[in-house]
Amino acid sequence: MGSFLPHKAYAHQTPLIDSQLRLPMVIALLSLCIAVIAIVRLKLSEKRLQQSEQKIRDSIIASGEVVWDWNLKTNKLERTNDYFFHTDPISKEIPPNKNSIHPGDLDQVKQQLEQHLKGDSDYFEASYRIKDTDGKWRWVLDRGQVTSHDKNKTPLRMTGTVKDISRIKSTQDRLNLLATCIENLTDAVAIYDSNLSLIEVNKRYLATFGGQASEHIGTQFNLPGYKQSYLNKLHQLLNKTGNWKEELKIVHDDKAFFFELSIDAIRCEKQVITHYIAVYSDISERKHAELQLQKMSNRDRLTGLPNRNQFFSNLKKLAVSKSHHALLVFDLDNFKKINDSLGHQAGDILLCRLANRLGKLTRQQDSIYRLGGDEFALVIAGTNDIHTITQTAKEFLVNIEKPFHMSGHELVITSSVGIVLFPEDGNNPEVLLKNADTAMYHAKQHGNRYLFFNDAMNRQAVKRLQIENLIRFGMKEDQFRVFYQPKMDVSTGQLIGMEALVRFITPTKGLISPAQFIPVAEETGQIVEIGRLVFDKACADVKDWLSRGLFNGRCAVNLSAKQFSQPDLARIIDNILKKHELPANFLELEITEGTVMHDPKDAIRIMNELNHIGIHLSLDDFGTGYSSLAYLKQFPLDTLKIDRAFIDDMGNEKGQNMVDSVVTIAHNLGLSVVAEGVENQHQVDVLRALNCEILQGYFYAKPLAKEQFEEFLIAEQKKFNSQAKGTSLTLVANES
Ligand code: C2E
Ligand code: CA
Ligand code: CA
Repeated sequence: MGSFLPHKAYAHQTPLIDSQLRLPMVIALLSLCIAVIAIVRLKLSEKRLQQSEQKIRDSIIASGEVVWDWNLKTNKLERTNDYFFHTDPISKEIPPNKNSIHPGDLDQVKQQLEQHLKGDSDYFEASYRIKDTDGKWRWVLDRGQVTSHDKNKTPLRMTGTVKDISRIKSTQDRLNLLATCIENLTDAVAIYDSNLSLIEVNKRYLATFGGQASEHIGTQFNLPGYKQSYLNKLHQLLNKTGNWKEELKIVHDDKAFFFELSIDAIRCEKQVITHYIAVYSDISERKHAELQLQKMSNRDRLTGLPNRNQFFSNLKKLAVSKSHHALLVFDLDNFKKINDSLGHQAGDILLCRLANRLGKLTRQQDSIYRLGGDEFALVIAGTNDIHTITQTAKEFLVNIEKPFHMSGHELVITSSVGIVLFPEDGNNPEVLLKNADTAMYHAKQHGNRYLFFNDAMNRQAVKRLQIENLIRFGMKEDQFRVFYQPKMDVSTGQLIGMEALVRFITPTKGLISPAQFIPVAEETGQIVEIGRLVFDKACADVKDWLSRGLFNGRCAVNLSAKQFSQPDLARIIDNILKKHELPANFLELEITEGTVMHDPKDAIRIMNELNHIGIHLSLDDFGTGYSSLAYLKQFPLDTLKIDRAFIDDMGNEKGQNMVDSVVTIAHNLGLSVVAEGVENQHQVDVLRALNCEILQGYFYAKPLAKEQFEEFLIAEQKKFNSQAKGTSLTLVANES
């Protein structure tokens, strides 16, 4: 029970507060606590709200956008972060900032806004110009949305942002302007990527080159009529320097356009080429006018011939080229007299007729000019061949001197020619012309028809002319003889054949060497006649020796380049053989390496024709030309004649190795080998050791006149007979 004592004792104490007051107090206390907590919470949430508002404000400030809030009922417009239009008066109309919008943009803004307020668009968006606090127009992008409506769906509030897009807008405007400019440019423009693949063209490009843009886009950069190597070079240069400019002629649809094409590389910030822009400026009109002008300024008005201007510009180009050319300058000796007596008009007519006459004489490689007055020039390009030049000079002189019939008169004019060779006599037009004039002046002074500036050339020309005349005379007077040089078989030591060599014996100058007159005869064409003569005499001699039992080998006749290219060579030779009733197998032709390599394909054809009639063919002077082994294999040859220079050089091991190689090549090709110019026993021994079958040279005999050769044949026969007898005697002795 005791357990209840304290309770009882307490129950008997006097209470401090009346028990009836206790409950309301507790409640009051609790309420106070709750209120305090609520206040604290409110303060806290207010603070958080402020913080988050600050954050939003900060981010709005950072974004550079103005946030607006428009109460449509009160027409109050609030802006946050407003830094450029805080002073504009608010309008009661729509839009509320109407007063500061550019009049040109107002309608558009109004329309967009009304549409949204009516509910026709999800949001309002307009870009327009607005006057800022400084009174300047700025481009802005304004976006917003209705955020609350009343029960009737009438918009009450709208919120949005305004962004200053003046910078973007001006960049865009610039870009648009540039694009419009390019599109409307009078030049054709094409934009390529870094691989020169086309990505954009303008209107003018399509007008010039035709087609639709889609047909061009994606195609590779190209210049019709220009080679790929040119384009490659262009690309390389572009990569290196970043630009390229050139005047071009482009043929499109059979029409020629002249362009000035400039290409520039476009680089990114890292300086890497990203694009190329090509501008084609049509310069056709200018070019055509230029050409016309050039034509006019380069022609002599009286005769129509190219004039002094043209002469200098052409000569300048030729003078720096690597090949040889000749300039012939001639003026008329007695033109002044004609002018004085018949008048200038008659003189002009004469000059025109002469120009016409001379113009007809010029070949492809020649160009004739009127230098002025009665002075003309002829340029022969690509040659310094004395024969061609003197022949041409003579031909011109003959034609100048042919009489002109004018107003009842027969007029004869004469001329003198001065000749320079270039680069030998000068390497610029002025010097060349001066030297040619000097030569012409000397020609006139000394009563010569033509004169070279270079005296050595004059001497050579004179000598050549003399030889030409001598040959002509010698042919008439039968001064040509055929000599024979034996060819010996190395293994038996017996005569196997001979080479016919022409000799020219004149009563005044004695014997003229073939080395002197054959080249001249070759140039003048006289060699054809001489060759025929040698054939004829050689065939007659061989036939004679054959029938008398003195000879049974083969006679070789030399054939020069001119003879070789006679169209009916095989027939001519066949006729001569028939005339002398000599079988073709007694004849051999020596053709030089130079002759056949000039046009190997044609040579094969001619050689086949000769082969066909049974003539033995030998390649002369082997080693002096540039025979390609590929051709050597195709030539229908029987024999290879090693040039004398190789035999001369056999004193050392290297020289012997060379001959060894030639002999091996010949044998591998199934050809027999003749060594020419054999002069001593040592050469004979070496050549025998190298398996060279046939030897020819002073060691055995010099070229011999017919009578002497006959003696040689008889001696050979005796030698053979005694050898044979000796052999049979020995045999008999052995037998007995
Ligand atoms: P080729 O056909 O190479 O004739 C060989 C030349 O070497 C001949 O000179 C001959 O006399 C010379 N010769 C021969 N053996 C020796 C030697 O041991 N030592 C030296 N130093 N010379 C030797 P040639 O007769 O003066 O003829 C010169 C060239 O003229 C010939 O060279 C040939 O190309 C040409 N030729 C000669 N006769 C005729 C011919 O009838 N018609 C044609 N088209 N050309 C001919
Ligand atoms: Ca020869
Ligand atoms: Ca030879």
